[in-house]
Amino acid sequence: MTAPLLEIRDLSVSFAGRHGEAFEAVSGVDLTVSAGELHGVVGESGSGKSVTMLAVMGLLSPGARLSGSIKLDGRELVGLSDRQMRKVRGVRIGYIFQDPMTALNPLLTIGDQIAEAVRIHRPQVSRAQSRARAVELLQLVAIPMPEKRATQYPHEFSGGMRQRAVIAMAMANEPDLLIADEPTTALDVTIQAQIMELLEKLRQDRGVGIVLVTHDLGVVAGAARSLSIMYSGRVVERGLVDDVFAAPHHPYTKGLLGSLPQPDARVERLRAIPGAPPPISARPAGCAFHPRCGYAIDICRAERPVLRQVGATTVACHRAEEVAAGQAEEMSVHDA
Ligand code: SF4
Repeated sequence: MTAPLLEIRDLSVSFAGRHGEAFEAVSGVDLTVSAGELHGVVGESGSGKSVTMLAVMGLLSPGARLSGSIKLDGRELVGLSDRQMRKVRGVRIGYIFQDPMTALNPLLTIGDQIAEAVRIHRPQVSRAQSRARAVELLQLVAIPMPEKRATQYPHEFSGGMRQRAVIAMAMANEPDLLIADEPTTALDVTIQAQIMELLEKLRQDRGVGIVLVTHDLGVVAGAARSLSIMYSGRVVERGLVDDVFAAPHHPYTKGLLGSLPQPDARVERLRAIPGAPPPISARPAGCAFHPRCGYAIDICRAERPVLRQVGATTVACHRAEEVAAGQAEEMSVHDA
């Protein structure tokens, strides 16, 4: 049996507070992505999704403490030196940043930046070859007139084109895994759809495994095969997108789905999840979602639920069976 492309096991990441106390940003995360699979990681800010991906890239701040295992194609990445990780980053794993403006240097042409991304990992490639490759990559991400566009600066590109250029840079060395961190957040809906189409094409044509990090469950709906929902540093539900959407077992997943616009339903107001995620320094005991959960009962405030298989999904909720079957009565929760 071949190893999954990305396999994260029991990953925890903590940061030291001002008085030396440890705050756990991510706890016990498991995540598996196969080659050619698009896996969505969904959660609000502070859920730990971006910290998890920075851990995969070896880009956590020096004070961060990490435990667990992160394997790429069966090779352990935890414990690699900076030098070894640099060979993995940008070659085996490409990262697409949320804001293309911060990922691009305003003083260099797009073509030069992509050519540099090629040469930094393959110094044997000549300047002419790397420039030709930059044009090829702009073509791959469907930028019209790629030769001309390669000579232009980021400010001469529209927002959608800049994001395509960033994807071209991430693809420069034909990575096996692409991590796309909120790649469409800064874009309008039409351009969002085009970027998602492009990622889907890269997945299909090149067999790239993609982790799509987003706060928007709607983005995942049409694109991903499987997903992990994160809340307060933990995975609270995971499974195939079709299964999770058909029968969400976690109240948070239910809440996220309920806040999505339904084009075929005559719903006048969308339902927002009350309250806000707790800060890392004040996570509640028991289930971290309990202050916002209409299904919370005494055990939820005392005992943290563990992930377990319920129906077709894996879920961390004491009342998953009742919630999925619609047998649990939902109480109103006041906004925190
Ligand atoms: Fe809600 Fe309790 Fe389930 Fe947490 S464990 S999501 S508080 S029902």
